[in-house]
Amino acid sequence: MKILVGIKRAVDYNVRVRVKSDGSGVETDGVKMSVNPFDEIALEEALRIKEAGKADEVIVVSIGNNDVQQQLRTGLAMGADRAIQVETGDTLQPLTVARVFKALAEREGAGIVLLGKQAIDDDCNQVGQMTAALWGRPQATFASKVVIDGTTATVTREVDGGLETLEVDLPAVITSDLRLNEPRFVKLPDIMKAKRKPLDVVPLDELGGHAGAAPATGRHAAPAPRSRGVMVGDTAALVAELKNRGLV
Ligand code: AMP
Repeated sequence: MKILVGIKRAVDYNVRVRVKSDGSGVETDGVKMSVNPFDEIALEEALRIKEAGKADEVIVVSIGNNDVQQQLRTGLAMGADRAIQVETGDTLQPLTVARVFKALAEREGAGIVLLGKQAIDDDCNQVGQMTAALWGRPQATFASKVVIDGTTATVTREVDGGLETLEVDLPAVITSDLRLNEPRFVKLPDIMKAKRKPLDVVPLDELGGHAGAAPATGRHAAPAPRSRGVMVGDTAALVAELKNRGLV
């Protein structure tokens, strides 16, 4: 069984995001870019499934310009067998990304498409669900535990009221939640080895993809700075301060 893992290049989660001075977007020049954290978790899970002997190949996929090759190499260093860059210079909508994953899943004959539950740059949380719908296969999103048994996956999902366990027939789409696992660290020899692993570049239109119409983005603005708090000596002073501000 092959597992396709989506790897999106996003601003590192430790970076304090700054809005460009003209409000046209967020600053990415000279900013540390990384693998979207949920995708690192998805890849870790795919590697564990392979290490347990339940998959033969893990393929990392990123859609974007040549910069995404950095994140694909990180995926290869973590242990993926090969990488595919779907090349485009356009910013894509989740529906286009889902069309790409559907086309690749069919082309590769994937048993699982493992994605992050969402990308932390646009917080869409749409690609997994749309891929499953287009592909006509089951989906198990927000996974916090995945058990593969033959042609079924038992997936524990984090839902508002607690946990829900689903059994889905493979092929299927699974998206990772934060508590699914803790991704491994990449070691130096693995980074060297990753340089020799295959990385194919496929143009977006070869997979029937086109950027499509994107919604026009208005202005980006940083949140208003928070005003300083005040320290109060005791509960009476706290209540007086809250009354003073009309909060009680
Ligand atoms: P989203 O629905 O946009 O929040 O993205 C959900 C997941 O889809 C991400 O965590 C990735 O696994 C995958 N994904 C989204 N965009 C891309 C991309 N450009 N390249 C590779 N994977 C992507």
